Amino acid sequence: MAVSPDDAEHLAAPVTAEFAAAERTILQLLRDLLTPGISRSGWAQARLAASGLLRRGLQRLIPGLRERAAAAAAAAVTQAVQVGDQAARHELERHQLPPGPDDLDITPAQRLTRALTRDFEPVYARILRQPQDVYRDVIARVSAEVLEGRVTRLRAAQMALDEFANRGVAGFVDSRGRGWELTSYIEMAVRSTCGRAAVQAHVDRLSAAGHRFVFASAPGGSCPLCAPWEGKILELSGPAGERTVEVPHTVTGRPVQVRVDGSLMEARAAGFQHANCRHSVSLFLPGVTSLPTAPPDAHSYESTQHQRYLERQVRRWKRREAAALDDAAAAAARQRIRAYQAQLRELVRETGQRRKPGREQIGIAH
Ligand SMILES: [Zn+2]
Repeated sequence: MAVSPDDAEHLAAPVTAEFAAAERTILQLLRDLLTPGISRSGWAQARLAASGLLRRGLQRLIPGLRERAAAAAAAAVTQAVQVGDQAARHELERHQLPPGPDDLDITPAQRLTRALTRDFEPVYARILRQPQDVYRDVIARVSAEVLEGRVTRLRAAQMALDEFANRGVAGFVDSRGRGWELTSYIEMAVRSTCGRAAVQAHVDRLSAAGHRFVFASAPGGSCPLCAPWEGKILELSGPAGERTVEVPHTVTGRPVQVRVDGSLMEARAAGFQHANCRHSVSLFLPGVTSLPTAPPDAHSYESTQHQRYLERQVRRWKRREAAALDDAAAAAARQRIRAYQAQLRELVRETGQRRKPGREQIGIAH
């Protein structure tokens, strides 16, 4: 059994759920603080005076969130390492080969966990600051719109809050200038870390058991980054570049020639086994292993991307539902959620892709 970064992706769900729940709590907090006396004059002043309640609410939210997120992240990485290690053990067992040393080096997992929880820090800062900006912004915009006599306060507040819910509570821009929805950012960070932990634990065990080569799987419908590596032989710790080496035949021990296409590190540096990738490597046994070729009719990269798009829309409208100030707005949001879910069902039916309910959730409030 081989393991791909994608095999560890479900481990991200409990971590993402913590942030999604916080997001929902924040939207409800904003809603509850903006609604009182909305049809009366003096609303804007009264609400601005109440902004300390929002700040304290947000401050109360962070420590618990940070603690739960760190614990969930550590558990996810540990599980990812186990997924990878188990996969390698099964693979060795299937070839009737010894599993290598009993104990696992846990330092790489700890290092990955620390790096991951550091990636969360900008999010906490964002959660603390952005809703306060939004709160003031909503009040200012409602006052302006109502002064001009265009809309009721309730309508204006709903419009402003909807815009916020659309973007996501702490939508932000990362160090590479890419815009993120908060839960997507967290999910991406956790999934890529767990994916890396799993595939690394897998090859660490193969290497510790004394093996030198793996080959890249060819699942088909391949992402452009991995296509060049499909079915290629890679050395676990060796120099980059193609070469032919002479090694003993796995069974007979007689020398055989092996065409090595590069090192695993080289392939990964070129993008192979990127985050969410479905490519794996398996043990290559000289003289025994026959290499795979890609099946022609697997589901495409494009339809996977389309599924991700629909999942983002479901999450967006669930946030809109949480931010709804009246029943009509909530009902309209629910209608959109159902429509996007129907499209997801249709896509899954057509392509045979797996549906991932965890990725359509925005969580429940703590
Ligand atoms: Zn890939």
